[in-house]
Amino acid sequence: MKLYSINTGYFKLDGGAMFGVVPKSMWNKINPADENNLCSWALRCLLIEDGNRLILIDNGNGDKQDAKFFKHYYLHGDDTLDKSLAKHGFHRDDITDAFLTHLHFDHCGGSINREGDKLVPAFKNATYWSNKAHWDWAIHPNDREKASFLKENILPIEESGQLKFIDIATTKDGKLGETNFAENISVRFVSGHTDNMMLPQIKYKDRTIVYMADLLPSQGHIPIPYVMAYDMFPINNAK
Ligand SMILES: [Zn+2]
Repeated sequence: MKLYSINTGYFKLDGGAMFGVVPKSMWNKINPADENNLCSWALRCLLIEDGNRLILIDNGNGDKQDAKFFKHYYLHGDDTLDKSLAKHGFHRDDITDAFLTHLHFDHCGGSINREGDKLVPAFKNATYWSNKAHWDWAIHPNDREKASFLKENILPIEESGQLKFIDIATTKDGKLGETNFAENISVRFVSGHTDNMMLPQIKYKDRTIVYMADLLPSQGHIPIPYVMAYDMFPINNAK
């Protein structure tokens, strides 16, 4: 097994929203804001080469929305999904599995490309992985979260016939559990940032690596009080 870090670019989000209840005098030392109070964040994905599978965990925000949409997010940097894949000798057509931790636009927007007036899968040879509960949560979004769930990123995945759901595991006491995805990869289900997010847990050499997605969007978010204001259930599992 080989792991590759795949940066699809950078964007900006409001520092106050990113650090929740923590005052700016504290979070600004971790990720200094610009003159508009915005901080820069990497849209970094993980590529797993595992036998004959090439598994891409999340895929950035893609480029199908118009300038009016992206003007709020200040995309910057030279990295793109295709460039970062090419750096390691891969092409998007090589991807066998497009694993979607959750369906917020900055994690799944690269799933679908615009070709003329059609929306088509960006990974034509891949199975796309989500789970039924999160899928339903995303296509019937609540008012607070719906700006992150864009139908054009999500519905064409199902229409392509390339979507599969992973069964949600629960423990004996009814909590969210863990299920196998490949020989050395399991999936942990967590409902803190959003409902039923999926985190791949990878046995790699003598270590266990978890791709935390937006449960821990940066190193600065490790202390519990730093959880994002974007989180739906911020104190789940905090006890
Ligand atoms: Zn998210």
